[in-house]
Amino acid sequence: MRTKIVAGNWKMHKNAEETEDLLNELIDKLPSDKEVRIIVAPTFVNLASAVDHLEFTNIGVAAQNMHQAESGAFTGEISADMLKSIGVDTVILGHSERRAYFHESDALLASKVDTALKHDMTVIFCFGEELKDRQSGNHFNIVENQLNDGIFHVEEKSWENIILAYEPVWAIGTGETASSEQAQEMHEFIRETIRRKFGSNVAEDVSILYGGSVKPDNAKEIFGKPDVDGGLIGGAALKATDFAAIVDGI
Ligand code: PEP
Repeated sequence: MRTKIVAGNWKMHKNAEETEDLLNELIDKLPSDKEVRIIVAPTFVNLASAVDHLEFTNIGVAAQNMHQAESGAFTGEISADMLKSIGVDTVILGHSERRAYFHESDALLASKVDTALKHDMTVIFCFGEELKDRQSGNHFNIVENQLNDGIFHVEEKSWENIILAYEPVWAIGTGETASSEQAQEMHEFIRETIRRKFGSNVAEDVSILYGGSVKPDNAKEIFGKPDVDGGLIGGAALKATDFAAIVDGI
């Protein structure tokens, strides 16, 4: 059976003290009776303290990005080995903000995926169409191409370490949410696409998260759809009460 997952992407928010405060609140407020994997992704400089802080909890820690090279002259970048060395074994790759503002292409993401998997990291691979693609009816093609070019080159056994996050760009940070029907329709398509390429076992086992303005008041309905296995949460992950309520909706 596939795992239910709720992950919080904190983006470029929260300094060291605020990170600690939010983690403490989460430890207090997150429901403990749910079968769910919970992950938070603070900014790079606060990852080591988050790992320490969460050591005896059921909350995992992910990085929001990493570089594809093992090491080298890449000023300002962070390697897989550096993340692993502080106890971070999960990384978000392909977030739409990385694709849009930092020009990360499918080919670049494919090589980041390879590096992360080589280091036995879990990858949360994000993808999703822009508004113009949905308006022109091209959203299924776009998503299939992102999967083909960014992650479908991996070996079948690597899927144990892959979580997918479908995040329609038009719904990220906009307050616009895909309806639960739109989310289900796309998640079903994604699972079917995986089934065609990798077979039923992989398709049935992979967790596919929805991301895009998930809030306490819409989480339950979206998570209730059969092919939605949880969420990647941006804005609402920054408030412990909201994030806890979203986890409660699983
Ligand atoms: C995200 O950044 O991955 C995201 C889903 O953001 P928000 O929940 O704020 O739309």
